[in-house]
Amino acid sequence: MGFRQGCEKIQRRLRTFEKPITVFIGAACLSSLLLNFDFSFLEAGLYDFRVVHGFQKKPDPEIVLITLDDKTAKDLGGFVPLSLDYHSHLLQAMSDLDPKAVGYLVDMNHVHQINPEFFTNGTGKLFVSAANHLMEKGIIFLMGTPFDVIGEALPPPPLNTLPHAIAVVHQDGNVFSEDRVTRRALLSIYDTETFHMAMARGLEKASDPIYPPGTFELPEVNGKYFFFRYHGSPVLRHDGSGGNSYTRYSFNDILEKRIPLGALKNKIVLVGTLASDDSADFSLTPYSKTPFTNPKIVLHANILDSVLHKDGVIRVHPWLNAMTTVFVTCAVFWWIMTLTPLYGVFATISLVLVFMIASQLIFQIQGIWLRESQPLVGIFVSYYLAVPYRLIREYKKRWDYQRKNELLTQLEELKTNFLSLITHDLKTPVARIQGLTEMLIRRTSTFLGEVDQTTLRHIFNATDELNHFISSVLELNRIESDRIQLHFESKDLNQLIERAADSFQTQAAARKIQLKLELEPLFPLRMDASLISKVINNLIDNALKYSNPGSEIQIRSYEEDELVIVSVKDQGIGMSPDELAGLFTRFYRAKNQMTASISGTGLGLYLTRYFIEAHQGRVEVESESGRGSIFKILLPLKPRIQAAQFNFPYIKAAQEPSKENLYVSSARS
Ligand code: ADP
Repeated sequence: MGFRQGCEKIQRRLRTFEKPITVFIGAACLSSLLLNFDFSFLEAGLYDFRVVHGFQKKPDPEIVLITLDDKTAKDLGGFVPLSLDYHSHLLQAMSDLDPKAVGYLVDMNHVHQINPEFFTNGTGKLFVSAANHLMEKGIIFLMGTPFDVIGEALPPPPLNTLPHAIAVVHQDGNVFSEDRVTRRALLSIYDTETFHMAMARGLEKASDPIYPPGTFELPEVNGKYFFFRYHGSPVLRHDGSGGNSYTRYSFNDILEKRIPLGALKNKIVLVGTLASDDSADFSLTPYSKTPFTNPKIVLHANILDSVLHKDGVIRVHPWLNAMTTVFVTCAVFWWIMTLTPLYGVFATISLVLVFMIASQLIFQIQGIWLRESQPLVGIFVSYYLAVPYRLIREYKKRWDYQRKNELLTQLEELKTNFLSLITHDLKTPVARIQGLTEMLIRRTSTFLGEVDQTTLRHIFNATDELNHFISSVLELNRIESDRIQLHFESKDLNQLIERAADSFQTQAAARKIQLKLELEPLFPLRMDASLISKVINNLIDNALKYSNPGSEIQIRSYEEDELVIVSVKDQGIGMSPDELAGLFTRFYRAKNQMTASISGTGLGLYLTRYFIEAHQGRVEVESESGRGSIFKILLPLKPRIQAAQFNFPYIKAAQEPSKENLYVSSARS
């Protein structure tokens, strides 16, 4: 193989894969562009949608909340967060209630601001000793401290001697999204575990922190985070209802022992403030982005619940995200390039739905967070890029077709004019040659030798064939220039068949072929007798031409299912399935040795089909190579269209091959 051939082969191969390659390159380029943007705002919205709409995780019934709200403070004659003596009393009361752990999330620096002297006058000591008493009883005690720019805001002395850890509710600001919504929690900072981790480790009695799945490091802040799961909606309505289904008691309920017996036994108790006008006690969550609706104490409970039950959300690796984006954009590009516009839209919408449902399910069931923003943006951008591209291609194709069509029409016109010119000019001289030859044969029969007579007969036969050809071409020309008119009359079809068979008797006898007629009596049929005669003549002529001497041709007529059927069956050369495929098209002749030696125009069956279709009928053929053929014409007894309407518009409509009117049964070769 030469270099050029090799190049051509590669080019051909490439052309076959042109569309998939273009689609893949387009999708890969678009995806790599999209992957440079993190669409955090969109992703945050989609993340929240997944959190809120799905099967909710059940809150751990072991976690109980004690809230210090406005009403409690008012009842006790103070302000949230109340002075230290109340807190000391609470711890003392707690000792009899036997909880498993107490997480004290009240900001003690805030308490200190109310009555600083309580921290030095012995109340502080009371608080410390109450806490120590709890710990001596085996109850875990841990204070949650705030975190500011300087670091952990330690509880004021003497409370700083008690176990404490940073307890912050992270609000997304700069790293994930800018909307200050709480989705993730800080687990450790500068290698020091935060409140929830320390509490969980204490409860699990583990020596080392066991981080929940999905924990990731943020080197910028030297901290470990994880996206925690919400256990139902944390939204607290103004009437006090809601706020998740963690059991909640008020601070006062404990002090005044208004809680059911054993309500806190073996529970993990979180104590926190919930002042309705203090923004520090609330955060924004995926459930509600309205201020003062999501209490932080409930978020702490959710974080602790997630840490305890290892319920972290696992973010998929960026390469999987990239692959998903490439895959969905590929699919959209491909569909828009190959499907019809309606199916394209349908497939794209289905892809969006399937993708969202699938990612929702894996989020809910496995806690896996597949990023949706880039694939979804990819789907929309690729759709809006692919549609114009497809349109441009379609327009180009249509333009090419139009041009080709115009050229073809011109060519067709030229050909028609040329054919009509030639055939008209040929018809007269050929008819004269034929007439003169016939006269010569008759006049010279007595004195010319056998050889000369045969020559004259050859001349006669040749001109006859030529005449036949010219007539067929003229007929074709008439059809194609819409000049055909049908003349309907009621006629006995059998009569036409008998007449046609008679005219072929001599020819058949010369080749020792037997023409067998089996004609059932038929009602007169409305038809153009001259066209139907041409059809029958052509079928018998073909059967004779393509039959071997000594064989039999059977011509039948019968009625079946509102149809009149004429069949011509021969035992001739037949046709293979390949040869049958081109039948009934203009100038078609089967390519085999036999047909090559038999003269013919390749127009007979083409005209047959037109004439029969003009009668709202159809032509059927069954053939087997070497065994023979059977051609059937099927004419309706009651045509749908009235005879008067049967002129050129119908024929014009029939000019394009109408496959439903044509039945070519496959043949065994
Ligand atoms: P032609 O003038 O060549 O016979 P037709 O349109 O009548 O033109 O037929 C088209 C082709 O169909 C023929 O050339 C021949 O190959 C094939 N054909 C038609 N009738 C028969 C038949 N009875 N047996 C086998 N082949 C046939």
